[in-house]
Amino acid sequence: MIYFDNAATTKTSPESLKKIIYMSTVNFGNPSSLHKLGINSEKEILNCKTTISNIINCEEKEIYFTSGATESNNIGIQGFLNKNKHNGKHIITTKAEHPSVLENYIKLESLGYNVDFLPVNEKGHINLNELESKINEETALVSIMQVNNETGVYMPIEEIGKTIKNKNKNTIFHVDGVQSFCKIPVNVKKYNIDIFTFSGHKIFSPKGTGGMYINKNINIQPLFLGGEQMNKIRCGTENIIGISAMEVNCKLLYEKMEENYNYVKSLKDLFLKEVSSIENSYINGDNTSPYILNMSFENVKGEVLLHALEEKNIFVSTGSACSSKNKKAMLNSYGYTKDRISGAIRFSFSIYNTKEEILETGKTLKESIFFLRKFTKR
Ligand code: PMP
Repeated sequence: MIYFDNAATTKTSPESLKKIIYMSTVNFGNPSSLHKLGINSEKEILNCKTTISNIINCEEKEIYFTSGATESNNIGIQGFLNKNKHNGKHIITTKAEHPSVLENYIKLESLGYNVDFLPVNEKGHINLNELESKINEETALVSIMQVNNETGVYMPIEEIGKTIKNKNKNTIFHVDGVQSFCKIPVNVKKYNIDIFTFSGHKIFSPKGTGGMYINKNINIQPLFLGGEQMNKIRCGTENIIGISAMEVNCKLLYEKMEENYNYVKSLKDLFLKEVSSIENSYINGDNTSPYILNMSFENVKGEVLLHALEEKNIFVSTGSACSSKNKKAMLNSYGYTKDRISGAIRFSFSIYNTKEEILETGKTLKESIFFLRKFTKR
């Protein structure tokens, strides 16, 4: 099997699996219990907070664990706005955000918030001057992702953070960091980020793991009521097995972040070289992460190509798994033609992929496109 759908989810790493077994059978106490087993679990959570706070440069007490980035984005957006109603009713985001952000704002608009959905150009970039001109005294929140999950396009987060705070220091900056976390440097303090969300299953941890950084100076209203866990911001017994399994990966990936980046970049570069001979093909998005490549091939439907590759045991995606059944495809926001959007295929790479897999997929892709175009050209 060749798996190039790592932006959708990843397999669990062997190191993480080992930790899951240990935490499930030996160190399985409830972190709220007062006995030794409970205290050991609590120490595990603190250890995870330490690791992640070092990776993104914040304090341990600013890290919260959740079931994943969908929950984190919801807590960040709704939890902040519900608690800070006096901060203004204006919000800025982009048209290219993940549904777990966009759907919140579509709902909030119907509840009386004024939301600016910034357009992106054909490269997937926003206009920074436009962002700056939209920020005003009433702007409570700006949400912009660091790496786009469908195209891999980088957003200039540091510059955006500076622009926001120069214009209104009270505006909160929320960044969905799912596709950047542990892959490229993140420095929440330097970038002026107030809320940063991440997911565990994109980095070789079990599904249902993730978390967020929340600047200690901002107040959040919890979405659920219950116990005192996570400073009451996210109550419920902590998923200590998942959290500690995620910590193992965070540490391993962070230690080798640059090496991993260069390795995955070499895979993507090789892939691009292999497919460069395919005529009438387009790369969707510009200035992108090496972990994601989105391409369209004229006269070939993405879904048909996906299944043709699947026949050969190669797994790719037509877009984000969360919106793959959604007609409101994110690529609409790039202003592409209908054909280019329906032809889009996402290849997302990981450190576990090999050069041989790249070469085999390049060859299969060329053959599949050649075969499929014979029918469409008739
Ligand atoms: N944001 C982005 C950019 C994503 O790629 C994803 C996962 N597709 C999410 C949020 C949601 O993450 P989770 O699956 O952990 O809820």
